[in-house]
Amino acid sequence: MVPVLLPEPLIINTSGPIRQVYAKQDFDLLPIYIYSFINNTSYEMSELTDLEPQMSEQTHKTIVIGSGPAGFTAAIYLSRANIPNIVFEGIQPGGQLTITTEVENFPGFPEGIQGPELTMKFREQAERFGSEIITKVVDSVDLSERPYKVQVGEETFLTQSIIIATGSSARWLGLANEDDFHGKGLSACATCDGFFFRDQEIAVVGGGDTALEEAIYLTNFASKVTVIHRRDELRGSKIMAERALANDKIDFAWNKTVKEYVAGENGILNKLILADTQGGDDTELNVTGCFIAIGHTPTTAFLNGQLEADENGYLITKPDSAATDLPGVFAAGDVQDHVFRQAITAAGSGCMAAIECERWLGAEGL
Ligand code: NDP
Repeated sequence: MVPVLLPEPLIINTSGPIRQVYAKQDFDLLPIYIYSFINNTSYEMSELTDLEPQMSEQTHKTIVIGSGPAGFTAAIYLSRANIPNIVFEGIQPGGQLTITTEVENFPGFPEGIQGPELTMKFREQAERFGSEIITKVVDSVDLSERPYKVQVGEETFLTQSIIIATGSSARWLGLANEDDFHGKGLSACATCDGFFFRDQEIAVVGGGDTALEEAIYLTNFASKVTVIHRRDELRGSKIMAERALANDKIDFAWNKTVKEYVAGENGILNKLILADTQGGDDTELNVTGCFIAIGHTPTTAFLNGQLEADENGYLITKPDSAATDLPGVFAAGDVQDHVFRQAITAAGSGCMAAIECERWLGAEGL
């Protein structure tokens, strides 16, 4: 038979003795054609318009959703335990590490490492041991029966088990030039970035426990920390409020919100313009750092309430475990942790989830 060269897109399956070839590459990007062969060297091409949604007949052992330290660590452990796994990494791998610049507290990198570079190392390690990494977003899951269904665009993936490692995202103020200041004075993680503000005057925005905890922690480095709160009463717990109020290095800017970030000549934050929520005049606050601590949002919308979560939306896992309330569904990293929220703790819980998943699959004989 004479080989026939087909134009792009690629062929993924054939039907019959090379009479019709269904070519499909990426539903989102390319048209889909049917090649109907007249003989071995010529064909007619027609565009396929009414494609049925794809349901893979294969049932996967495990699907990992999320590609931060938790997701990739889970993938590394699964692959090294010989459990085939797919990682849906979203549009961009890395989760919160992608908006972190220098990571200095992840063991093994004495000189520090850039957040995105650390992510790529996690990813390479998972790939090296055989994890299949797919750069797509999971739209929804159906956990009503096993095998579970994972919906990715038009495709449905069946799986015996799932590790959810979709993380959480820090809430930001949403000011026009906010993105320009990430890594240039603006942060949402005192533990990660506090060290860079030694002997400087900085601000923390928020009045909850996170803001108070971050402000207290930041006094280990900064010469002065101003907590900017939109009301005159703190939301945080009494004990944290008492500690913050008693701390000589902490000032409070009550009834204020940040209206504008202002950069110095070096492009790094050096001033905040504060609006008065009681109608007073705008004021200026000279700071070189600003920590936004107005809460985090766990990424769980795609679960549509099918797993037990707390009042803030964080998934609930069993004590000392990554198991959720459904068999074979595990949660790791910030999506289930509002307390530590560190890359290293996320990686640790990804490891836990993978080991528990492996044991669960074994116990189920899968
Ligand atoms: P919270 O929702 O408790 O507090 C958010 C704070 O940010 C509030 O003071 C809120 O103001 C303020 N805020 C929200 N949106 C804006 C905005 N757009 N502009 C200005 N200010 C804004 O979140 P936390 O992250 O502080 O805490 C979440 C949960 O985690 C809580 O249950 C908390 O107790 C817990 N936690 C526990 C800790 C511990 O036990 N060690 C440590 C950290 C958190 P307002 O008050 O006016 O609504």
